[in-house]
Amino acid sequence: MGGKQAETYDVIIIGGGPAGMTAGLYTSRARLKTLLIENALFGGQMTTTELIENYPGFPQGVSGDELSRLMEEQAKRFGMETISDDVTEVGLENGLKKVKTYGGEYVCRALIICTGTEYRKLGVPGEEEFRGRGISYCATCDGAFFKDSRIIVVGGGDSALTEALFLTKFVSELTIIHRRDALRATKIYQERALSNPKIKFLWNSVVHEIKGDSVVRSVVVKNVKTGETKEVEIEGAFLFVGLMPRTHFLKELVQMDETGYIITNENCETSTKGIFAAGDCRKKLLRQISTSVGDGATAAFAAEKYLEEG
Ligand code: NAP
Repeated sequence: MGGKQAETYDVIIIGGGPAGMTAGLYTSRARLKTLLIENALFGGQMTTTELIENYPGFPQGVSGDELSRLMEEQAKRFGMETISDDVTEVGLENGLKKVKTYGGEYVCRALIICTGTEYRKLGVPGEEEFRGRGISYCATCDGAFFKDSRIIVVGGGDSALTEALFLTKFVSELTIIHRRDALRATKIYQERALSNPKIKFLWNSVVHEIKGDSVVRSVVVKNVKTGETKEVEIEGAFLFVGLMPRTHFLKELVQMDETGYIITNENCETSTKGIFAAGDCRKKLLRQISTSVGDGATAAFAAEKYLEEG
């Protein structure tokens, strides 16, 4: 295998979102030889958030880009090594953890998994076909392409509402399609969306099919109460129907729930000794930057204790 020769780190962290960066800050300050592997941008989902209003210390809010940049700078300050690569497999060998990436193989005594989540697919005809041709999962990335367009946003959670509110800056018409008649999102986002004159709602409705030619042209929407279907002409659709953990590469190495969220105890310890999980990929009540930061610190401290006792 190409790339770096296997060398033993005290700690390897997989994922450079708020959980991973916090874990790295703590383990490098504890003078543990630490490697953080990130496959895209440091900051994870934060990087695609326009304004973060619920992370303490920023009374006027802070952009996702800025918070990511600040956390990255702080995490790297104490000697943590980083590489940009995709982890393909994790295994155990002689009490050590072996992490394979596309470019190399790395070995550590303690492993902290902070791989977060990715957007769940709606799973309807046309979704894959028109991805990038009118179908998007990221308003901050693609919103500007939809200037003066008619779009729909699917979902009723925090992602759907915050991204819809952001998209009102660009579009001419925006309809949120939600499968129930009550929103799941935090109350303040509900208030803002319900009172925004640019946002309309189609309640009790689901998208059945996405249609178009070279680009998206319409969606077929079904009312789940009446069974009635109708075709709505659009130029774009943003889909925010929840998140899926990025844990497939772990196979059966640690215990997970039926969706793939990693099961841990309150110290972020998984079912396998020396493997810890922190942040959104962990089964827990609340997935926020603040809870990821807390998890990262806990997992790092637990890893330090594990190494001291080992
Ligand atoms: P979520 O809270 O799981 O909401 C998913 C939404 O999609 C729900 O309204 C759900 O409907 C709907 N849905 C699920 N499957 C569907 C399907 N097949 N067809 C149609 N609708 C479907 O996901 P999220 O909004 O991505 O949020 C995920 C986590 O990130 C949450 O913990 C959230 O608080 C957090 N987050 C926070 C912020 C923030 O604080 N600023 C921003 C974004 C995300 P039902 O309601 O009927 O289940």
